[in-house]
Amino acid sequence: MEEYVQDQIKMTDEVIQAINWEAMGRYMKGMPKSKQVKICKYMHNWQNTGRQKQKFAQSAGHDTESEENKNIYVCPFGCGRVEQNQHYIRCTRSPKLRHKMNCLKSIREWMVKTKTSKLMRIVIYMRMLDWIKGDVMPPINIRNEEGGMRVQYAVDEQDKIGWDQFFKGRMSKEWQTIQDEEYERLRNQGNKIPAHQTGLWWTTKMIRLTIYFALNEWQVRNDTLHEAKDKTEREVRRNQLKDMVYKMYEAHRRADHPALRRYFKRPYLETISKATTRIEHWLVAVISLYDEEAKTEGSIQDIIRDHGVNIDEFNQTNQAEE
Ligand SMILES: [Zn+2]
Repeated sequence: MEEYVQDQIKMTDEVIQAINWEAMGRYMKGMPKSKQVKICKYMHNWQNTGRQKQKFAQSAGHDTESEENKNIYVCPFGCGRVEQNQHYIRCTRSPKLRHKMNCLKSIREWMVKTKTSKLMRIVIYMRMLDWIKGDVMPPINIRNEEGGMRVQYAVDEQDKIGWDQFFKGRMSKEWQTIQDEEYERLRNQGNKIPAHQTGLWWTTKMIRLTIYFALNEWQVRNDTLHEAKDKTEREVRRNQLKDMVYKMYEAHRRADHPALRRYFKRPYLETISKATTRIEHWLVAVISLYDEEAKTEGSIQDIIRDHGVNIDEFNQTNQAEE
């Protein structure tokens, strides 16, 4: 795996050595086979982006410069550029820009929840935003902050590896080391940190969330590219459900109901990445509890009504599928 990646993206040995392959391996092992294909395509630039189509046509000797053909290679969001790999994650013309920013925030929230070293989480979030928003990465200097030298070293390492690679789960080993030290520090201070929480655990989860993030943007891109009429009923249904989950998380953020907390423990990105049936189960559980716990919660009723969902019917379909 390491050798292949090196060949493909021409990374230097130094960069290869800096990547946390152990966490990457763990992440992959934890994913179902069906998802592994999608992940693999994404990580190795096999997604059928405009640029890939163009490369294919060029190698087949086709004319890629004609006006008619050019349209095939440009970004589906309409920014006019040739669609390079990962462009859909960064394009400012994405129709779901706000949603994308909220997904990033959900990663930030997860970092707070898992007690990520403060400086490290601020810097990672900042860098993720930098990469998404622009072509230039502004310099970061945190050497004078407390514990800043360590985090500075990690950012410098990740800058060398590349943040495009970070979004493919290729993260610097330094993040793991810093987080191990942070958990140790917290334990020494008497904080209860579960034994499974280690720097390696943290990195594996971080890879998972980051790749969920990217694959979700890929979905937005595909939804934009394919006309509504081309979508299967299942795809439409899945998008509706995901939309509901999004609104549930928003509602939960506005008004926290203790009885519901356990359903919102997982980051939003993880919940919407589940299989469709599992998303349905999740929604049924949450909606029923909302019915019991929060009879006065108007907003939830609105969400349900907006989506034209009849709760009884919803429950029935669901039971029928089980
Ligand atoms: Zn674009």
